Amino acid sequence: MKTYVVGNWKMNFTVGESSIFLNKLLHKVPAYRDIEVVVAPSAVALQPLSLQLDRRKIRLAVQNFYYRDFGAYTGEVSVNQLRGLVDYAIVGHSERRHIFNESDKDIRQKVAAAVRNGITPILCIGETADERTFGETADVIRDQLLGGLSEVSKEDIDKIIVAYEPVWAISSTAGAKMAQPDDISEVIKLIRSTLKSTYGKEIADEVPVLYGGSVNPSNAGAYLTIPGVNGLLVGGAGLIADQFTDIIEVAKRVQS
Ligand code: PEP
Repeated sequence: MKTYVVGNWKMNFTVGESSIFLNKLLHKVPAYRDIEVVVAPSAVALQPLSLQLDRRKIRLAVQNFYYRDFGAYTGEVSVNQLRGLVDYAIVGHSERRHIFNESDKDIRQKVAAAVRNGITPILCIGETADERTFGETADVIRDQLLGGLSEVSKEDIDKIIVAYEPVWAISSTAGAKMAQPDDISEVIKLIRSTLKSTYGKEIADEVPVLYGGSVNPSNAGAYLTIPGVNGLLVGGAGLIADQFTDIIEVAKRVQS
């Protein structure tokens, strides 16, 4: 399986800055067959960046979209309209869940819309600090995982990516802490066993599971060597070209 390194730029960079940043990455990132590098710029930058892109090196993801394909939904962009621009779509990021109150229903409809339109959803799941403290992590993870996938048929489960992002480890969360590989390992096992018991071993083994939360070049190797982790979802360090490309280099070293 490929190793994924996904940079979520969130609401950072103007269109011009995004283009300059992408250009830097394109100069520094080689075309690796077994590493899939993905960046998620702001929606307004997707069109120009898609023209500038070398897809052998880097692919694009959208950070958000509306689940219906067309219609009277003022201000929204559908994943159908993003076909040809992006290969991936981040769905259920904790900022969408907690700042914009996205519900489990919104998230499962978005996952299904992405699959229906041939775009790979990166379904983000993760518990908050309070949920961990009160021993609710396993329930939250199972609910978010199975809820998010509930409109996807068994045949399509290998078309999705799961990202485990403990909310308390995301650098922009107040009081964020770096997660220890042991904390992550336990949840990755739970994700894998939930996928196995629901969809069967062969299908479950095809699903890439990423880790995200304060990833940087110094800890990337430790996170990537956790059994069952197939890549990283990177926020803050993805906005610094040298850090992002160093993380890609770590991914390459870990794989070879
Ligand atoms: C994120 O917001 O998805 C994320 C992982 O951010 P950071 O790497 O900055 O913790």
